[in-house]
This record gives sequence, C-alpha cells and structure tokens, in this order.
Amino acid sequence: MNKKQKRQLKRIILSLVLLVVMVIIHKLVIDKLTLGTVLFRIILTAMYLVPYLIIGGKVLAKAGRNILNGQVFDENFLMTLATIGAFILGEYTEAAAVMLFYQVGELFENIAVNKSRTAVTALIGLRPDYANIEQDGELVKVDPYDVVVGSEIVVLPGEKVPVDGVVVEGESFVNTAALTGESIPRGVKVGDTVLSGCINEGGKLTLKTTKNFDDSTVAKILDMVENASSRKSKSESFITRFAKYYTPLVVIAALIVAFVPPIILGGGFATWISRALIFLVISCPCALVISVPMGFFGGIGAASKLGILVKGSNYLEAMAEVDTVVFDKTGTLTEGVFRVNDIVCKGSCNQDELLKLAAYAECYSNHPIAKSIEGAYLEKGETINKESIEDVKEISGKGVSVSLDGVTIYAGNKKLMVDVGVSFEENNETSGTVVYVARDNEYLGYIVISDVIKQVAKSAISKMHKLGIKNTVMLTGDRAKTANYVAGELGIKTVYSELLPGDKMSELEDIITSKCEGKKSGKVAFVGDGINDAPALTRADIGIAMGALGQDAAIEAADIVLMDDNPEKICTVHDIGRKTLTIVRQNIVFALSVKFLVMILGVFGIANMWLAVFADVGVAVIAILNSMRMLKFKE
Ligand code: AMP
Repeated sequence: MNKKQKRQLKRIILSLVLLVVMVIIHKLVIDKLTLGTVLFRIILTAMYLVPYLIIGGKVLAKAGRNILNGQVFDENFLMTLATIGAFILGEYTEAAAVMLFYQVGELFENIAVNKSRTAVTALIGLRPDYANIEQDGELVKVDPYDVVVGSEIVVLPGEKVPVDGVVVEGESFVNTAALTGESIPRGVKVGDTVLSGCINEGGKLTLKTTKNFDDSTVAKILDMVENASSRKSKSESFITRFAKYYTPLVVIAALIVAFVPPIILGGGFATWISRALIFLVISCPCALVISVPMGFFGGIGAASKLGILVKGSNYLEAMAEVDTVVFDKTGTLTEGVFRVNDIVCKGSCNQDELLKLAAYAECYSNHPIAKSIEGAYLEKGETINKESIEDVKEISGKGVSVSLDGVTIYAGNKKLMVDVGVSFEENNETSGTVVYVARDNEYLGYIVISDVIKQVAKSAISKMHKLGIKNTVMLTGDRAKTANYVAGELGIKTVYSELLPGDKMSELEDIITSKCEGKKSGKVAFVGDGINDAPALTRADIGIAMGALGQDAAIEAADIVLMDDNPEKICTVHDIGRKTLTIVRQNIVFALSVKFLVMILGVFGIANMWLAVFADVGVAVIAILNSMRMLKFKE
C-alpha cells in the first residue's frame, strides 16, 4: 500500500469506528430521551454528519467542483445526491454507510490498479537505478540520466545494464529475459553491443555508452508501456461514451420513480423518494468504468511478461480479430542470415575475381545479401580498397552498381540485368537467391546465396491456422522459385514474389481493401523485421515488428513489438487478445445485468440501501478481480 492508500484506509477505519459509536449513542441514549421531532432530527443529523463528512467529504467536494465546471453527471454526483437524500429521509446510518462502502470500493480499486501497473513495469523489471562510473580508481554510483554518450561505465556481475553501450573490456553472459522473455543468457565480448535492461550474469564488464538514457532501449520500452493505457480500445471508448449518456438518464429515471408513482397513486412520497435514492446508488457505473481498462491493462501486462510489447489496448483488441497475417519473408520467416553457397562463372573471370568484383560492388550496401557477399570475400583474408570505388548506387529491390577503376560493376537480380541491358542466362534451378554480376555490358556469372528457414516458423504458421487465422500471406522481393520453396516448407497459403518495395505496399493495400469490401471484417496484421518495413508496419491494421530489439525505427512504427525473433509469439498475443476481450465482455455483461436486476428490485421496494451498496461496490470488486486474472496468463 502506498501513502495515499494508507491515508484512505485510516479514514475508513476512523469513520467506521465513529459510525458504530454514533449508532450506539443513538439507540441507547437519544432514542430514550423525550425530544421534539425537530430537535431529535437536528441532533441525529449533526451526529451522523461527523463520520459521513470524514469519509465522504472528498466525494462531496468533487461533486461540487464538477457542478461548477459544468460536468454535473458522474458517480460523485450520484453518491452525493443519494446520500443527502437519505439524510433528509432520516436514513442516517445508511447515508454514512453508503459513503463508507463506496470508499472501501475505491480503495480496493486503487490497490488493484496500482498492482497491475507495477506488474507491467516490474514484470519487465527494467528500470535501472544507477550506473557505475570509475573515478580515481573507485566506483561511484550515478543516476543513469547523468551518463553522457561515450562515457565508460562498469557493470558488475548481477547488475542491470543501465544504458546501451559497446563492451570495451571484459567478457560475460547477459540475460535478456527482461527484454525478450527469453531466459537463455547470451555471451558478450569486447566489441559487442549490450542493451540496457539486460542483466550481467557473468564477469565484470566495462562499456562505452552509445546512447544517453532517454534514447536507450530501456527508456524507449518503458515509455511505450507507460503510454499504452492512453490508447483506448473500442470497448473503453464505448464505456466512456456510455457513462456520459447513462448517468443523466439514470437521474431522470430516479426523478420519475420519486414523483410519478406517488402523484398517480396519491401520496407515499417518502417511500418512492427512498426507492429513487436506492435506485441512484445502484446505478453508479464504477464497475464498468474501472474494470474494462483494468482488463486491458492486465492483458498488456501479461504480454509484456512474455517479451511482447503492446502499444495500446486498441491493438490488443484488434489482435483478437485478426484473420489475415501478412509476412515479410527475410528476417521474419527466415533467419535473415545469408551465406554464399555457390559461385558460377559465365564470363571472362574466375570465381575469385567474380567474388571480388561482387564484394566491391556490395561493400557500401547494408542489405543482408550484400553483407554476406562482402563477408565471404573478407573471410578469405582479403581487404577492400574503398578508395577505388566511386559512384555508388543502390537500386531498391534490384541491386547495386558502382564504378571501379573506370568500369561499372553491377550486382543484383534479373530486373537489374534487364534494366541495364546485359544479356544473361536466367537461373531458375537453384532455390537460393541468385545475384547476377556484370561488368559494363559483359555478363560475368552469378553467386547463389541462401537463407535458413526459422525452425519455429513452421509450427507458428500451423498454430495460426489452428487458432482460426484463415489467411497467411508472404510478400517478398525474392525470386518466385525461392519464395515458393519457403512458403511450401512453412505451409503458407498465398505468396507474392519478385516484388519491389512499392509493390509490397500495394499488395498489402489490396489485401486490406479487399477485406473491407468483402463480407467479413477480420483485421490484417503485417509482420516484418523492421528493416525497410516501417511503411507497411504503419499501414496494416496491426504492425508487428519482430526481433526489433535495438532497432528504434521498427519499435516506433510497430503497434506490437516481439522482443525476440519467435513468430510463435504472434499466436500468443492473439490468444492474450482473445482472453482479454472475453474477460472484458464478461465484466460488462455481469455488471450491467446485476445492476439492472437490483434497479428493478429497488423500484418495487424489494432492494434496500444495503443491497444497493453491494450492487455498486461488490460488482466493482468482483469485476476487478476478474480482470486481474489476466496477469496470471500462461502460454
Ligand atoms: P528486398 O526487397 O530488399 O528484399 O530486395 C529484393 C531483391 O532485390 C532481393 O531478393 C535481391 O534479389 C535484390 N537485391 C536487393 N538489394 C540487393 C543487393 N544489395 N545486392 C544484390 N541484390 C539485391
């Protein structure tokens, strides 16, 4: 319990004790005195006002403030109206008790909300408290905010890495469980990047920081999680709108109950006003207003525990409705680690020369294909003299060209060869990616590169189909042969290959719009690894970035981030989304039906003030407990 909650609890106990004392004095002393009615009522009102004001003062003040601001109808107004009415009717104990129980419910809500909020941040367990900086041979603890880029920090065994950095001294294992949900420690040595939020499980590490705290992975993630609750789901917005119309309607209904029956039936005002007040207490919409966001908060918390960051309730809700998942192939379904498998010469140079020319052409490109060709060349102990390279061009979705000692070298796919007018022989046999190489107009041969299909991708796709995700689609710039092979291995239903980056967007657009025009309304998720995928991640109903750790652009563009590279987590988050929605719906139906029932009982004089309090506070507490089940979600 925090300070505020402790204060609230003290106030509850104090007013409860005072209320009991007042009841005893009332029954044993005041009732025995022979007083005039007016004096009797004045004394009782004054007595019961003490516990009532102690516990309900804040509610009265809030209701007053809201009225002055023109926002009359909320639960504070309902409670105030109902309890003042009870005083007027001489139901003093009930008036104080209603406020008391209302506060008990509020306290409970407060604790629950706090608990799930700490669950979200503590489950991620990320926030680093300090960074060690060496000063005059001693380690000094400083606030991570004060560490400037390029400083050297020391991370001792068992400590959390406070800021992103590169290892300059030491060797160790770091546990990324807090970020990825994956608990196998990863070995790091000099030159490796270590992300904030990881825990050092081995020896002492000295890091040179590459980012300040605000730009570090941990700060980005915390920021995202903390802002998640501000993106409202449809159910939440519905409840907010609902409460806006509901409260005034209830007040009108209460007025009707109070005055219409006695006017028609003649007399009995006190009875009907009392029923109207009971009706008001029951009608308080707190259970709904609180438990719906609580349910989503629980779902987001459960997901973050498993290394899945969901940026808002709306995405969790949409995830439950996904029936089409579109994948980018490279890096998402495949490891994205390419290896040179074959070098085939068709012109006037040998294999070594062909690899050298290709490596020179690719050395400025960051494409995984380029990296693998450059890597294969450097592995042979060769070096690249970048000074001899000029006029570097990267043609998106096709390849590269450079000018090397006055001749132009091209490396890329068949589209590139066609574009530059090189006559070449197309290779349709191999299932890897084929990079054709040409020097000016002369075709020199090709290099075959292959990527490895992710082990878990196959089971992930079959799980998705079982979960009711009807359509799985793969988009790739790769050749049809390779694309079909990968899709066949994985069991993906639809494949679009040989796409340029722009084509990928238009295919995605087609998939999304054909859905909108069609009969069904399932949502479309796009899954990418974040490299070149930002527009698609943004355009899809839900953008899911995989293995995006350390990639700020992907974390920013995506709606859901899978911190590890496991596509099975898509099934997990789909499942969490569905379970969350079920709980939220249960709460809505439960709260509304209990309230409706007790309201009717109230109107017919069967429910008293105590049942009314249960219908309000009790339902809220039960709905909150139901929402908190999500925090215990297991895969
Ligand atoms: P992407 O959409 O970036 O995956 O690229 C689609 C296709 O373009 C790849 O499968 C390659 O055939 C070709 N490509 C793109 N960049 C390069 C490059 N740097 N070197 C060779 N081929 C490339």
